[in-house]
Amino acid sequence: MKQQSRDRSTNATANIQFPTVPCKRSETKKMKALEYIGKKKVRLTEVPRVILTDPKDAIVRITATTICGSDLHLYHGLFPEVYKHDILGHEAIGIVEEVNTGVTKFKKGDRVALSCIFACGECQYCQREEYSLCDNTNSSKKEESFYGHRTSGIPGYSHLMGGYEGFQAEYARVPIADMNLIPLSDNISVENAILLSDVANTAWHGNDIASVGDGDIVGIWGAGPVGLVAAFFSAYRGASRVIVIDNDNFRLNLAKKNVEGVETINFKEEDVTKTLQKLVPGGLTVGIECVGFRFPKDVSHKIQQLLKLETDDSGIIDEIFTNVCKHARVALLGDYLSYCNSFPIGMLHAKSLQLFAGQNFAQKYQHHLAKLMETGEIDLSWIFTHRLPFSDTAKAYAMFDKHQDNMVKVRLDVSLETPQQKTVI
Ligand SMILES: [Zn+2]
Ligand SMILES: [Zn+2]
Repeated sequence: MKQQSRDRSTNATANIQFPTVPCKRSETKKMKALEYIGKKKVRLTEVPRVILTDPKDAIVRITATTICGSDLHLYHGLFPEVYKHDILGHEAIGIVEEVNTGVTKFKKGDRVALSCIFACGECQYCQREEYSLCDNTNSSKKEESFYGHRTSGIPGYSHLMGGYEGFQAEYARVPIADMNLIPLSDNISVENAILLSDVANTAWHGNDIASVGDGDIVGIWGAGPVGLVAAFFSAYRGASRVIVIDNDNFRLNLAKKNVEGVETINFKEEDVTKTLQKLVPGGLTVGIECVGFRFPKDVSHKIQQLLKLETDDSGIIDEIFTNVCKHARVALLGDYLSYCNSFPIGMLHAKSLQLFAGQNFAQKYQHHLAKLMETGEIDLSWIFTHRLPFSDTAKAYAMFDKHQDNMVKVRLDVSLETPQQKTVI
């Protein structure tokens, strides 16, 4: 077996040539893009079009995009380093409009999905397929000062994550395009394809880092798009039981309709721990958290966050640790930012729990998942509850934020894929 070095000290960061941020803009051509204006204020506006900037860049004409649950952290003004006029969005598909001289795998006219993780493909982390830990795509000194190291760039997701222009726009610039575009066959539906940017990879990642397989009893906290797809993948990978926990009956029913044999718990209607102890007396073998920092579990944590005594909340983690068996695997997929009080470190230690976390290793999974979609082995389009024109994007943010009209995932049609395609609604 190939011996992998565990030494992380060899990568000198001083001479890294990061992709240029911001990218160049056209002096003559315009594009519509969704800009962050301020807390709960986003606006579709006309801005100079993004153009090729670095040799490995591609420009993609976006055909469809969507809003991610994590975009709402920015929408609420709770994510650091998001500035007025930043273009948001990190999930989209489109048609390659133009490639620069350093792009070898794509050409004008190719149908592609855009990765939410920007990876260089060459650094030691990329070599190990830990793409969201890429050394070379995020120049944020602030992230380094927060965490000791920088992680990968994420488009449209704050200057902490690299300051890249986002994908909720008519055109997007993709740096190191050979790594950060996914080729799409015509057999993959628009809805499935959009999920190759982030949601499908993130949901798969949670199952992968927690090694979900035959016979596992998996608890999924949170029935947003990632939680729903994570439940689907747990069942797909052979879990004997999958239990989804949320307070939204529409979303829990969506899980019941689309994930065979799934069990659900509405935490507003029943006590999660009491119910789980009845359902699974021995404890879950895996817990997957798909919620994130923005939803404090009880009043005490709400107050602590308001007083800035903590930025994040350990309430759900506490509940997961309580309900998994000893030596269980726990994956944190939701976004966490900084620090929280009352972290149940004693339980982690006493029960010998195995804790995994982090952003998805997108490029590690995308081709495999695209194949499963292409052959019809999996179909995740059921998580899309709405389809709206791009002009309604700002309205869609407000709807998605409030679960209005039971919105779970929205397809936003930006432009036509081909002249033959039916008109955008
Ligand atoms: Zn996302
Ligand atoms: Zn890299």
